[in-house]
Amino acid sequence: MNEFDLIAHYFKRPAKNADLGIGDDAALVSVAAGHQLAISADMLVEGRHFFSDADPERLGRKVLAVNLSDLAAMGAKPSWFTLSLALPKMDEPWLEAFSRGLFAMAGEHDISLIGGDTTCGPLTIAIQIAGSLPRGQALLRSGARAGDEVWVSGPLGGAAAAVMHRTGRVKLPSDVAERCDLRLDVPVPRIELGLRLRGIASAALDISDGLLADLRHICEQSACGAEVRLDAVPFVEDLHALPEHLRQEAFLAGGDDYELCFTAAPDQHKAIIALADELELGLTLVGKIIQGNTVHLLDASRQPLPIIFHGFDHFAYES
Ligand code: ADP
Ligand code: MG
Repeated sequence: MNEFDLIAHYFKRPAKNADLGIGDDAALVSVAAGHQLAISADMLVEGRHFFSDADPERLGRKVLAVNLSDLAAMGAKPSWFTLSLALPKMDEPWLEAFSRGLFAMAGEHDISLIGGDTTCGPLTIAIQIAGSLPRGQALLRSGARAGDEVWVSGPLGGAAAAVMHRTGRVKLPSDVAERCDLRLDVPVPRIELGLRLRGIASAALDISDGLLADLRHICEQSACGAEVRLDAVPFVEDLHALPEHLRQEAFLAGGDDYELCFTAAPDQHKAIIALADELELGLTLVGKIIQGNTVHLLDASRQPLPIIFHGFDHFAYES
């Protein structure tokens, strides 16, 4: 099987929502009048973003999920993606399982693979995703204002607990480890939430590097500070299996959950509670935006706590 057979067999599918899909020098798409394109890319590298023994079907789902999550955080409706793949060798069982996971996730969100690139090299999976939204309605990181409430979706920390277990920092009971593995391997992109937050949220992003580190990005770009109440942050039940300091690290600084963190004016409070109900998704008020330029962590009696861990920075670790 050569490169062209590989593409035709594993990746070429009818591109429903494109004018021209895989096969030419470029794909063609149309954007509705009054809409903007939202474009994002995310790359997963073996040994850095996923473990070498990662299940290829889950990997196919995950690489697309993390890209979808970026569009969710913009409030965009995803439509198209490209796949650039470096493979160490022609491995058909791997390709079969990987493409199955990838297209399962694509199908759930009704998006089409419209192109990419394929080469030989250390296993690297790069996706570029694009979607659209009504002009001017994107959820930016720069829109938070002092007085806004800070919210997060879902319980946090499950993915980080899985990483702690797999890297030997903790030993979790096998049923707990399995559930946390699912959160790490198969994150659920909050597309519907992102779409519904248009007109409600003042700023948003997806939590890929840990709540505190990601909230810092909103603060930087919005020129504000934030307070987060430690006891308000929702974490997955299974984190009770961790000692307290690791539990806190998991839900405050653990990446890979791909939930959304967003800010909204207090007069949107009721609308957000109603949205949580309607989407059957946990949306929790965890703090507020204040003047300043830092993120403060507060204890139950609103006293500041030291922040001793940091979000994940790929260049902070030498490989
Ligand atoms: P070019 O030589 O113009 O870069 P390629 O031979 O790399 O074209 O690719 C041929 C076609 O297959 C193009 O339409 C390209 O977008 C698509 N393609 C290549 N690799 C992939 C992939 N991994 N997934 C999806 N489409 C791909
Ligand atoms: Mg090419």
